[in-house]
Formats: sequence, C-alpha cells, structure tokens
Amino acid sequence: MNISENLKRLKKSINQEKVKLVAVSKTKPNEAIIAAFEAGQLFFGENRVQELVEKQKTLPKEIEWHFIGHLQSKKVKSIASFVNLIHAVESFKLLEIINKEANKHNRIIECLLQIYIAEENTKYGLTKEEAIEILENPKLKDLQNIKIKGLMGMATFTENENQIRNEFEYLQSVFIEFKNKYQTQNINFQELSMGMSGDYKIAIDCGSTMIRVGSTIFGPRNY
Ligand SMILES: *Cc1c(COP(=O)(O)O)cnc(C)c1O
Repeated sequence: MNISENLKRLKKSINQEKVKLVAVSKTKPNEAIIAAFEAGQLFFGENRVQELVEKQKTLPKEIEWHFIGHLQSKKVKSIASFVNLIHAVESFKLLEIINKEANKHNRIIECLLQIYIAEENTKYGLTKEEAIEILENPKLKDLQNIKIKGLMGMATFTENENQIRNEFEYLQSVFIEFKNKYQTQNINFQELSMGMSGDYKIAIDCGSTMIRVGSTIFGPRNY
C-alpha cells in the first residue's frame, strides 16, 4: 500500500481545477493521513465525531477537515471550532445548532444539504421537497454563521452503472435548479459532493465538484 502513489494516480485521473478531492481517512491511523498530507493532500473527510476530534488535535493544523457522516445535534459543539465543511446536513434544526455553535467561535461554517438519491432505504438524506423547505424557511436568513454551499449525495451501492448514472444525473439537475433559484447571503450553491472510490468517474461525468475517496487512496478498511 503506497499512499502517495495512490494519490498521484488518482489526481492524474481527475481535473483538479474542477474537482476537489476529499481524502476519506475514517478508521485510518494518523501515519496514513500524514503520508497523504506530505504528498500534498489538504482536505480530509471523517464520519465519526470522536475520531475526528482526536485526529484534529494531533495532526497538522493546515489540514482542512470535512465531516461527511451523519451528525448528531449534541455533537456539533465538539467540532465547531475547526470543521471546514459539513457534508451531510439533513434538517433545519441541525443548521440552527451548527449556527449557534459556530457563532460561539465567531466562525462561519459551510454546509451541504444531503439529498437522498439511492434506492436503499438505509441511506440518510432529504428529498428535493424537504430541501426546498429548508431553503425557503424564512428563519434561514437569521443564521448568519452558516453558509449553504451546495448538495451532497450517495448513489446506490450496485454494479449497475446506469442506475448510478441516473441517480447522479438527478442530483445534478436538482443542484442546477437550486443554484439558479437560490442565492442569498447564506446560500451560495457551488459544490456538488458526489462520488466515492467505486463511482467517482461517473460522478465527475455528471458534474461533481467534490469527490470523497477513501479506499482507493488508503486501501480497504477493516472495521
Ligand atoms: C466512507 C465514505 C466515503 C469513501 O468511501 P470509499 O468507497 O472508501 O471511497 C465517501 N463518502 C462517505 C459519506 C463515506 O462514509
């Protein structure tokens, strides 16, 4: 397992002016993250608050940390002082809490709304209609310490590339519609976070601006 070689190969296969790479380091030790950091990687994604907090404490401060998992309200305060982007916001209530905690640190925390696009009913996320309710909530403008920067989604875990493509195309269409329709002080649609190790090439074809890749860089995870 050569992390810097894996990164180099992956970066060659994407247009880095258009697509940002988030290295998903969940379950991986600090040494693996340092190897990627020393090879030039700056954005890292984690999906457990406890693990993220411990890693952030000891690893280089230049790293930008993205929270990519399901975030419980009561845990927001542990990451509010440093988190750069929260990928998977699923409720207005969570936005209010992120806003409150960001305010305590005098920060603006960028967030993506997670849209449910997969067939499996185990995956989290909002329907398009639920996302519209959040974006049109009159109280949103009061949340001065958050910024909604775009959408995130996860395709169905399947070999069927057509299905994956259909799901990503749907998310892209929602993204374009929202980008054209909503632009306020704290809504600015710029990022479409979709694509993982198994499907990032399809996601990029469908307009992804941010891919979240773990095992292709760090090898398989043992839970
Ligand atoms: C684990 C995870 C990834 C990365 O998965 P790989 O298949 O290892 O690339 C991407 N996004 C989310 C939300 C994840 O939880």
